[in-house]
Amino acid sequence: MVSRVIPVEPFDLVVFGGTGDLATRKILPGLYRRFWAGQIPEGSRIIGAARSEMDDAAYRAMVHEAIAEFVAPDKCDKATLTAFLDSVSYVPIDARGTGGWQQLAGLMRDDVVRAFYFSVAPGLFGDLAQRLHSHAIADPDSRIVVEKPFGRDLDSARKLNATLAEHFDETQIYRIDHYLGKETVQNLMAVRFANILFEPLWNAQYVDHVQITVAETVGVGGRGSYYDKSGAMRDMVQNHMMQLLCLIAMEPPYRFEPDAVRDEKLKVIRALEPVGHDDIVRGQYRGGPRKSGDDELSYTEDVEDPHSLTESYIALKASIANWRWQGVPFYLRTGKKLRARTSEIAVVFKEPPHSIFDEDEAWRENVLAIRLQPNEGMNLSVMIKEPGPGGMRLTDVPLDMSFAEALGEDGADIPDAYERLIMDVIRGNQTLFMRGDEVEAAWAWTDPIIAAWEERGDRPKGYDPYSSGPEDALMLLHRDGRRWREIRG
Ligand code: NAD
Repeated sequence: MVSRVIPVEPFDLVVFGGTGDLATRKILPGLYRRFWAGQIPEGSRIIGAARSEMDDAAYRAMVHEAIAEFVAPDKCDKATLTAFLDSVSYVPIDARGTGGWQQLAGLMRDDVVRAFYFSVAPGLFGDLAQRLHSHAIADPDSRIVVEKPFGRDLDSARKLNATLAEHFDETQIYRIDHYLGKETVQNLMAVRFANILFEPLWNAQYVDHVQITVAETVGVGGRGSYYDKSGAMRDMVQNHMMQLLCLIAMEPPYRFEPDAVRDEKLKVIRALEPVGHDDIVRGQYRGGPRKSGDDELSYTEDVEDPHSLTESYIALKASIANWRWQGVPFYLRTGKKLRARTSEIAVVFKEPPHSIFDEDEAWRENVLAIRLQPNEGMNLSVMIKEPGPGGMRLTDVPLDMSFAEALGEDGADIPDAYERLIMDVIRGNQTLFMRGDEVEAAWAWTDPIIAAWEERGDRPKGYDPYSSGPEDALMLLHRDGRRWREIRG
């Protein structure tokens, strides 16, 4: 397949928090992989900036280590590594202090794209934005990249947006949701809007319901104290799952352009109905003996608070009040310590209006399953005749499109979501980034749901580690005559 990659301009990318977990696990290895793929133009530079005192050589050694750990060895040849590390430098800087800013200002060049990745706690965004301006480091073409959590409720999200807006125009702000950088998620738009096949069926007349599942096998582990202040609703539903729901439910944008796409997503969020108490199940994983003999810690032991009421699991039924989706439930579930690690969107279609086959022929619904992980790809289950003699017997088979297989070598080298999104920042393309009003609308839907369970003192239901979640979550679908798809890795 001939590569038709849209080129990028040379750039200076400053990674604030360049010594942190996100930078060393995702951002820097991702940049290296794009460099290896020949996508980073000559003359581009990456400048790490964080509080630790170290020189360029020490930082390069740190970046080298991160690449060795997180990039496949077949991409780590000496010549490429050396060339990449030559483009890396470091400035010790305190977001709240004065040191380092003049040095950084002196490093910036006028004739290249300037981008600033805020890979630090959101409490520092305002300090960084203000200093970038007071030291004339940012110009009107500069871009800033900010990470989740983008607020913890509507009020804090508004304040964060207002803080950034004091120094940057909305067209300069790139709010990352790495789910939007996944190949399959973008393919969802291609499949919907570049084919005539699906769109005519994509509505309440033909779709029975939609299931969105993001299941993890890990518990909260070392992130316990952070996670306990957030919970599954804030950590997953308000951002990642909401974005997936938007891409499934939105109307066709008039063009594949940033604001055209984001306007349509915003309309979906605004059309979401409030969710009632009966349409939500929250859970917390229990402890238990492990096969190895050690005890598996429960959620409350993991976060070291026996009284914690934070959910490590949530399932809910959402409804979209518009013509297209009238009466079509969107069931969302996400949790930690579940049976398998998987992220999947399943669009489940209705029965044919009349069956010409024997009633005892097992009929199964057509399902378009969009897998985000593992093995990104799509799968459409269709009914066919079971092969061989013996009369007309029906069975369902998957029409499978695994991108890695379908696209050969290029497909097997699907870039990580972060690398794709960082390249989009340099290209100045905001399509796959959340706009401020989208984030606020998502919180406006989420806030009353959380407020209601806090007011009631709602206690999450226990579920066994590595199960499918609390029993009550099964009921959420059973009572509607439906069932969850199996959580399979
Ligand atoms: P981290 O604690 O590992 O790293 C924080 C970085 O910020 C370090 O480089 C530290 O030196 C720097 N820093 C702290 N205070 C500073 C100051 N006053 N001035 C300058 N630099 C300072 O955190 P992380 O996990 O890398 O996360 C960074 C941000 O990204 C956070 O907002 C986090 O919520 C978000 N995030 C992280 C992940 C992840 O996978 N780690 C995923 C999604 C979002």
